[in-house]
Amino acid sequence: MHIRVIGAGVAGLTAALELAERGARVEVIDRGPHLGAAACSWCAGGMLAPWCERESADPTVAELGHRAIDWWLRRFPGTTRKGTLVIAQPRDVGELTHFARRTERFDWVDADQIADLEPDLQGRFHKGLFFTDEAHLDPRSALTALAARLVELGVSLRFGVEAPTGDRDVDRTIDCRGFAAQGDLPDLRGVKGEMLLVKTREISLQRSVRLLHPRIPLYIVPRANGLFMIGATMIESSDRGRVTARSAVELLNGAYSVHPAFGEAEIIEFGADVRPAFPDNLPAIRECGRTIYFNGLYRHGFLLAPAFATQVADAVFHN
Ligand SMILES: Cc1cc2nc3c(=O)[nH]c(=O)nc-3n(C[C@H](O)[C@H](O)[C@H](O)COP(=O)(O)OP(=O)(O)OC[C@H]3O[C@@H](n4cnc5c(N)ncnc54)[C@H](O)[C@@H]3O)c2cc1C
Repeated sequence: MHIRVIGAGVAGLTAALELAERGARVEVIDRGPHLGAAACSWCAGGMLAPWCERESADPTVAELGHRAIDWWLRRFPGTTRKGTLVIAQPRDVGELTHFARRTERFDWVDADQIADLEPDLQGRFHKGLFFTDEAHLDPRSALTALAARLVELGVSLRFGVEAPTGDRDVDRTIDCRGFAAQGDLPDLRGVKGEMLLVKTREISLQRSVRLLHPRIPLYIVPRANGLFMIGATMIESSDRGRVTARSAVELLNGAYSVHPAFGEAEIIEFGADVRPAFPDNLPAIRECGRTIYFNGLYRHGFLLAPAFATQVADAVFHN
């Protein structure tokens, strides 16, 4: 079976891997000049936080998302499973109670336990929630690892290649173009996300830290070499690639309130992209002739792509 996957974001690469591992002959094409150049996946935080996401997401996200952690651990050794720490300033402690009511699989932690988990936060927060089983990864390293594994499996990966109009030369096409597929999927909308990458050696964190705030909740995800991803805004907009001054100020203020060392950090990158989302904010797989559309990953690209990629492969092999 010869399958063409269009799009080398997290949807396309996970689907290609599931298909290649089952023995299909797979090619991946992407219009970007190189991996990540035009992919929303490149901007992601990389939190694998199924139980935290329960706060605002459908229960399906936790049900399908928790399995993603093992999927990533098997395929990307850089996946870190050290939990998620959720904190709030003393004046916002009500936000923690609200978050706790809507989520599951956490322990309440006090100031000493917070200091044990994250010594650099000692004395800064009195109460928090610790989601022991959650994980995080660096999306750029994870996608690079998936691409390398695909090449090892004999998959052809080509960049700078626009999707062709016809599909007569392949048995099936898996369309993973993200928000660019909106023309074929009219109910797809964009939810803009802005993020920044900073570098500092003045603080180290072991795990993702979420700061709850009534207006501007944010998270900080540690990466290698003193890098931290700070994100992310959620704006109903399809305006890709522009970070507003307001968002930059709010994200930086939030990070500074987690630890003043972020005030001295070097800004490495500001980034923005558009999360592809369907009206129910859940991903979907839609078949149209020989094309399978895999889209709508919304804010759960790394969390839900493995489960849906498996469903894509099932659909290809069982039809
Ligand atoms: C700031 C931010 C933070 C986020 N944080 C998280 C997080 O912590 N955890 C999480 O799970 N998710 C997170 N997400 C969500 C996640 O990034 C998205 O759900 C995911 O990236 C969508 O992946 P995709 O593969 O569908 O689309 P994309 O990553 O956009 O990939 C689509 C690919 O298709 C290619 N393409 C488009 N049109 C064509 C064409 N005509 N021909 C050839 N190629 C084409 C593009 O070049 C692109 O590479 C975040 C998103 C943002 C913006």
